[in-house]
Amino acid sequence: MIKLSGVSKTYRQKGNLATAVNDVSLHVKHQEVFGIVGYSGAGKSTLLRCINLLERPTTGSVVVDGTDLTKLSKRELNLTRRKIGMIFQHFHLLSSATVAENVAFPLRLARTPAAETKRRVAEMLDLVGLTGYEGKYPSQLSGGQKQRVAIARALAAKPSILLCDEATSALDPETTQSILALLKDINRQLGLTIVMVTHQMEVVREICDRVAVMADGEIVESGSVIDVLLTP
Ligand code: ADP
Ligand code: ADP
Repeated sequence: MIKLSGVSKTYRQKGNLATAVNDVSLHVKHQEVFGIVGYSGAGKSTLLRCINLLERPTTGSVVVDGTDLTKLSKRELNLTRRKIGMIFQHFHLLSSATVAENVAFPLRLARTPAAETKRRVAEMLDLVGLTGYEGKYPSQLSGGQKQRVAIARALAAKPSILLCDEATSALDPETTQSILALLKDINRQLGLTIVMVTHQMEVVREICDRVAVMADGEIVESGSVIDVLLTP
């Protein structure tokens, strides 16, 4: 499903080379919830962004459903990216657009016909429990509701993979639980593969099947959640 091989990402900073991700290989299975954990600065976010090429790896390959994304032309990459939705810690909604317009955004990019867009937006808002919020603006919503809109937007173009970058880190514990329950439902009902970066162990314990632990740009441990979290 997702296969990273020898992925590294280095940045040039004031003449020095800094390595955010160092020779990481990783296999995420179809329909699993895979966690990437580690302390701040470990390289989790950079690694996640290499999966949809928001960050282009300096070396290595990123194979999704048999296609190496690093070999695609810009146009092919844009088409393939529709298979990969993403949500963020701070939601990244368009503040001047309504809930419905936010959810419709990826469908517009894909030139989806208006009737289909309307149907799909309604379906997505139903999925995340926000039917009736179509005309609201992000500033009128709670954090949990904003993340629900972001999830609806991320899923609008029917991706098979959802990348989550600290998706619950800005939310209170109760809202975190409700968003995790929604993500688990989506994983089960839609058969979506989920890769989530988090520094919160309770998030991993709650919904991940397998987990990789990152430190200093490398994966230092990986396996089933039980094995990794119970190892002293
Ligand atoms: P994490 O998600 O685990 O907190 P990040 O992937 O955000 O870690 O960052 C890993 C390291 O790479 C950090 O030292 C960070 O400062 C650095 N880094 C991330 N993005 C960039 C960038 N665009 N330019 C330079 N350095 C970066
Ligand atoms: P968010 O909290 O919304 O996920 P972040 O604060 O993690 O956003 O990162 C915002 C952006 O800054 C990312 O694109 C990340 O790659 C980049 N970034 C992170 N660390 C550095 C750094 N040391 N130098 C330059 N860019 C960085």
